[in-house]
Amino acid sequence: MNVHDSERLSGLLEDAGYVRAEDGASEADVVVLNTCAVRENADNRLYGNLGHLASVKAARPGMRIAVGGCLAQKDRGEITRRAPWVDVVFGTHNIGSLPVLLERARVQDEAQVEILESLDVFPSTLPTRRESAYAAWVSVSVGCNNTCTFCIVPALRGKEKDRRPGEILAEVEALVAEGVCEVTLLGQNVNAYGSEFGDREAFAKLLRACGQIEGLERVRFTSPHPKDFTDDVIAAMAETPNVMPQLHMPLQSGSDPVLRAMRRSYRQERYLGIIERVRAAMPDAAITTDIIVGFPGETEEDFEQTMHVVRQARFSAAFTFQYSKRPGTPAATMEGQVPKEVVQARYERLVALQEEISWEENKKQVGRTVELLVAEGEGRKDGSTRRMSGRAPDNRLVHFAVGDTAAADLPRPGDMVSVEITYAAPHHLNADGPDGGSAIRTLRRTRSGDAWQARQEQPEAERRKAAVTLGMPSIGRPAAQPVGEDDACGVC
Ligand code: SF4
Repeated sequence: MNVHDSERLSGLLEDAGYVRAEDGASEADVVVLNTCAVRENADNRLYGNLGHLASVKAARPGMRIAVGGCLAQKDRGEITRRAPWVDVVFGTHNIGSLPVLLERARVQDEAQVEILESLDVFPSTLPTRRESAYAAWVSVSVGCNNTCTFCIVPALRGKEKDRRPGEILAEVEALVAEGVCEVTLLGQNVNAYGSEFGDREAFAKLLRACGQIEGLERVRFTSPHPKDFTDDVIAAMAETPNVMPQLHMPLQSGSDPVLRAMRRSYRQERYLGIIERVRAAMPDAAITTDIIVGFPGETEEDFEQTMHVVRQARFSAAFTFQYSKRPGTPAATMEGQVPKEVVQARYERLVALQEEISWEENKKQVGRTVELLVAEGEGRKDGSTRRMSGRAPDNRLVHFAVGDTAAADLPRPGDMVSVEITYAAPHHLNADGPDGGSAIRTLRRTRSGDAWQARQEQPEAERRKAAVTLGMPSIGRPAAQPVGEDDACGVC
């Protein structure tokens, strides 16, 4: 959500005539910090960065600093009090105001703080700088009506607001027309989508409607919620070929008392029932999750219940977190805070178990032939190992050998290749060819690859301009990157 908001902030500024600085803060006239209050130490990091920028700004008169996002929504005027060199503070509900606030700060030569209590315009109507030519985020809703006691999101993002299905589908169609072949539908709780306009089956219908869009090869979504996850969504996933066999289903805890204290209204039995039904409908689905260890009051028995669910569910991966207080949430002041060393020990046991399961599940992939959507920037060692990287339908990351394939014959990001998996590690798979050669069995050049190539061939200035699109029925260029492990925030 936060990354997609950053795409919008970039799009807004580029639409207003700003140009991205080549060399980061050292040469920028404007620096925007988009903050996330979910991540641990977000405030320390913000004020640390602002401290660093104070000296940069002192050496560059006229430089402007803006702070937005969840932490700005939370801290408001506190930011300009602690860091008086900040020029603009804006919240989660008015990101569209950034260019105007920057201009006002310049003309009036004083700090502008503007925080709204509810959504100004739906963010998807704002220009967006799509970072990827082949994959895009598409918001279906913002905000959340739940009240999980560890979570700061409802306080900072407000009540759920749903976008109309027609608008969402128009945006997806516009993206596909520009070359995008994968979309990730985005919402704090996608399964509650439709509650605002009274259609509890709206999300399943949306998935099926995405299945009708010619040229859209892969549909993913994040995040669902076990409370609202219904069988019509499982059926829509299983019956819609372009909806990928992948599900990120946040567990948070396997213990019923802890789930109650978290104010998450499903219980272990319901959760495992969903997993069972998903596996029955889609045997090859990769299911991932989020787990918090050491929530206030968690006993050894509670923790064992989490371990039990992990053993039963056999997640392909889990984002595991040690509970830490978020000021302003009910859990921050609950009794029974678990000592740090106990949390650490449980966390290590959980990670060890999950690693073992992830590895075992990945080993089952060896020998399978999978079609990969070739990705950009997903393999740090690709250059030195003569490999490229891509995502399988279930979103597993696969590094595949290209041997001595000539540059002109290599697949491009956005193209599809099929490879046979030859090696499994806990967090990725490899596909290596015979005798150190290429692993590519078939290469399908796609419109997404063409779109990626067209971007590369554009002069830099044009490329930047062309990457900015209107989020709604739009003319422009495609897309964004799928969420990676480092991006998980552990809510929902
Ligand atoms: S964890 Fe997710 S579902 Fe719960 S309140 Fe936060 S955003 Fe909403």
